[in-house]
Amino acid sequence: MKSWKLAAVLAAAALATACGGKPGAVDGERIAAAAPGEWLSYGRTYDEQRFSPLDKVNTGNVAQLGLAWSYQFDTDRGQEATPIMADGVLYTTTAWSKVYAFDAKTGALKWAFDPKVAGEKAFDACCDVVNRGVALWKGRIYVGALDGRLIALDAATGEKVWEVQTTDTSRPYTITGAPRVIKDKVLIGNGGGEYGVRGYLSAYDAASGKLVWRFYTTPNPNGQPDNAASDKVMKEKGAATWFGQGWKESGGGGTVWDAMAYDPELDLLYAGVGNGSPWNHVKRSDGKGDNLFLSSILALKPDTGEYVWHYQTTPGETWDYTATQHIILADLTVAGAPRKVLMQAPKNGFFYVLDRANGELISAQPYVPITWAKGVDPATGRPIENPGVRYVDKPSLQVPAPFGAHNWHPMAFNPKEGLVYIPAQVVPFAYTPDHGYTYRPGAWNVGTDFLANALPTDKAVLAGLKAMIKGQLIAWDPVAQKARYTIDHPFFWNAGVLTTAGGLLFQGAAEGQFSAYDAASGKKLWSYETENGVIAAPMTYELDGEQYVAQMVGYGGAGALSAPFVLPDRPRLPGRLLVFKLGGKATIAPYPKPEKLDVDLTGVTSSGDAKRGFALFHQNCQVCHGPNATGTYLPDLRRSQMLTSAEAFKSVVIDGALAPRGMAGFSRFFDARGAEDLRAYLLTEARGAATAAVPPAKGGPPPKT
Ligand code: CA
Repeated sequence: MKSWKLAAVLAAAALATACGGKPGAVDGERIAAAAPGEWLSYGRTYDEQRFSPLDKVNTGNVAQLGLAWSYQFDTDRGQEATPIMADGVLYTTTAWSKVYAFDAKTGALKWAFDPKVAGEKAFDACCDVVNRGVALWKGRIYVGALDGRLIALDAATGEKVWEVQTTDTSRPYTITGAPRVIKDKVLIGNGGGEYGVRGYLSAYDAASGKLVWRFYTTPNPNGQPDNAASDKVMKEKGAATWFGQGWKESGGGGTVWDAMAYDPELDLLYAGVGNGSPWNHVKRSDGKGDNLFLSSILALKPDTGEYVWHYQTTPGETWDYTATQHIILADLTVAGAPRKVLMQAPKNGFFYVLDRANGELISAQPYVPITWAKGVDPATGRPIENPGVRYVDKPSLQVPAPFGAHNWHPMAFNPKEGLVYIPAQVVPFAYTPDHGYTYRPGAWNVGTDFLANALPTDKAVLAGLKAMIKGQLIAWDPVAQKARYTIDHPFFWNAGVLTTAGGLLFQGAAEGQFSAYDAASGKKLWSYETENGVIAAPMTYELDGEQYVAQMVGYGGAGALSAPFVLPDRPRLPGRLLVFKLGGKATIAPYPKPEKLDVDLTGVTSSGDAKRGFALFHQNCQVCHGPNATGTYLPDLRRSQMLTSAEAFKSVVIDGALAPRGMAGFSRFFDARGAEDLRAYLLTEARGAATAAVPPAKGGPPPKT
């Protein structure tokens, strides 16, 4: 062995020993200053920039990227995870919170772990049974399961070390986000804001699974302290911003379901907080008050959960404008001065640059055209709302929609270009007050009338609505607060991004492509047909001198569930992990052609009331099966064999015959007669007559714009 090679091996062995000698022996110092070839946390490092210093794959040779290895998973639901890579092992998760470990060079499966989440838990997941990834710390892997468990696994074997239930299982909490680990504490939040939960962020001891602290983002409905880290600030700042009774039933929302970042120098943990529950501010808080800490960025001390500062992006939130979106920390020169900034492009459409030491607003500008506000007041940091946008008495068409101008899809910051790349979208939504709103435990509780979002019956209006909806990849200059360039996509709901020192920008897309662009200009340099939609963000790593680019493939999430009429008409296909390298020659079998589904409805009749079924459908079913049953992502109900038999239909819809596959029974919400009304309605859709047979929903279609 050549002496330099021996020295390198010895140095690597010494490093492994220093870190405990186990694979995945990652600690805070290693995450904060990750070696160029590593990807050690969800956003690569604590600053969550998703910028890789690797440049072996670059603008000059990216056209030679080919498949190095791949793996096909056993689930065809949405794949949102970013893999992480340490010590030659690549860890990822799939839908249903399953964990996989691969040899990062060969793709050989080392182990897999299935937490066996119950199928009916899918009912509680607003936005698909997805999972965005794991955390790695001192030889253990941490994953949040959809059913609210936080699970620690041995990184070498996948054996469970401990698990803890982080949520009240009597409420519709879920976990889809990736944990982060800071100073031996595993940070995990949860979701459920559309149904009715009270949001919080928890820190568990990485070694034992013991709860260290918890920070609630909304006041305790019973008016008492929680004996939690949030008690002091909730008493001093939070409680006085809430009014009425609505939030007390629903928990108020404010779930911490995705973004976190950490600045080791300031020793501050940043977390993004979700929307109100119900959405409608009038129903939640009598239309009064800012409702802290909904739609806010929180800065906390990671040791104790102690509050340091907050910035609320959308006071009195009423549009599902979460601030859970990706948080990036960076050092920028603003007006000639170096600033330690925090950047976020939350759902509300403004790109925020804050001073991350104290939460002071540096600047905010809209990154897509928006209608709800005309700007952010630089003096107060509050949005300047346009008149009539709060749908107090009548419907109000606004951009962005609850999908957000940007959702969970990770951005990336390239310090060489000084650009943040935003997977953005332009989507309108007819916010309509639900005057009959009453809280229904366990159901969707948003206080907006979804009947108004049935598809317009007028073909021209429908075409106009479709034309308004756009997907974009925006290269945003955060100092100048303007786009340098924008890449338009044929569909909305596209993938998260990666940028590298090789001058590259990678992104997948709904239509089934994974592409590399010149990060400086946006020129497309390489593309690979994935045959399946992509929503997850790619990552990159280096092993034995070769750079790899990894991408989880598999369409799903909120867009696929709720807006199928503007997305590719493609059946669900199994998720895949695709890993590329220069000159890669691996091949992958094409997806099998799906069987053509059809159902013979000759002579099939129903005793139900189709009009009542239309209303029931849009109140209970459309968030997963699409407006007017246009959904093809979950089984296309217009092509379901269940339509042919009242008994079979009832066994699924009321008795939960398919609960293990994710279709919970609805007996809590309506009875067998309701199920038959639904079947009657679906028969009209299946026969292509429903849009003519059913009058326009109250509130009417969105106006032409
Ligand atoms: Ca939400």
